[in-house]
Amino acid sequence: MMKSFTENLFALMLYYSGLIKVIRDKGRPYAKILAFHSVSNDENYFVQGVTDIWISVALFVEQLSYIRKYYNITSLQGLVESLQKGEIQERSVVITFDDGFADNYHFVYPILENFRIPATIFLTTEAIDNRKPIWIQKLNYLINKFGIDKIVDSMKGLLGDAQFERSISNADSSHCLHKQIEQFLAYKVPKEFREEILLKLYAKFNISLENIFSQNEIFLSWKTVKKMHGNGICFGNHGESHTPFAAMSVDDQRAEIVSSKNMIEKHIKQDFLPFAYPFGQQRDFARATKRIIDEAGHSCILTAMPTLVDVNTSLQELGRIVIGNIPVYRLAYELEKSVLKSWLKL
Ligand SMILES: [Zn+2]
Repeated sequence: MMKSFTENLFALMLYYSGLIKVIRDKGRPYAKILAFHSVSNDENYFVQGVTDIWISVALFVEQLSYIRKYYNITSLQGLVESLQKGEIQERSVVITFDDGFADNYHFVYPILENFRIPATIFLTTEAIDNRKPIWIQKLNYLINKFGIDKIVDSMKGLLGDAQFERSISNADSSHCLHKQIEQFLAYKVPKEFREEILLKLYAKFNISLENIFSQNEIFLSWKTVKKMHGNGICFGNHGESHTPFAAMSVDDQRAEIVSSKNMIEKHIKQDFLPFAYPFGQQRDFARATKRIIDEAGHSCILTAMPTLVDVNTSLQELGRIVIGNIPVYRLAYELEKSVLKSWLKL
């Protein structure tokens, strides 16, 4: 694995020397499925932090122009249908968004409409139903508003256990610490207890959760979902509570997967229903997860791992490239990185 600075330099060199074109041409039988999250004009307290889930509208437009110029944007359903036939359109790119941020409606949707770009939005159904924010946004808000040290101290006071201290003990930066707190809440505590901890933190800092989240529209509503669906946007299942499935019992996994599927189907009618794992890395889902999702009747499953997608790829294991706040030269590299790696056997 290249160090990130060297990798960035390498990406710059490939882009400005024009070598990226050679790689794009050679790597054309692969499809690239991209995963975006929040796209808006300001990086607010809800999306700021470790997960690199926000980009500005201006950057999104730049990234999209590059993609439109050099790739063929196709729908997820279109890609799945061609993979089923053993075919792949050259330089296929699929655009997806995770979680269901309200800005996908306000900023992304008009751009997609304007350029007639097909896209799929994966919904965390709890966030859409009752407009309840995902725990990650609740945590981000507190950390970004009060600073990481105050949150760590309060959590130590609340939890008072060695497990939390151990989980964050080797953090060497506040960025890393933020990530470790997120990991702790995702993996080390049951979701009911996670909610309880967050509620107590909000109470401790004298912040009204209700006020914060009713004054800020963070996630889509079923009304906006229906409107976009009526105009060709595809929706997918991203689970109910954005908890890694690997942290849940098989029964809880089944309950979440079925409940979020039913919730989506209650509001929109869609024959093609894809699923994307929350977090989406290998350690975030268990062996049983894939089977349950499949048995529940989903059309395909997407990860957040940048594995190559071609005619031999299983529809239950479609890799995605997560696109964060990166300039176009870096996007150009990220799009071809897995192809390059496969050639170099990295
Ligand atoms: Zn997500």
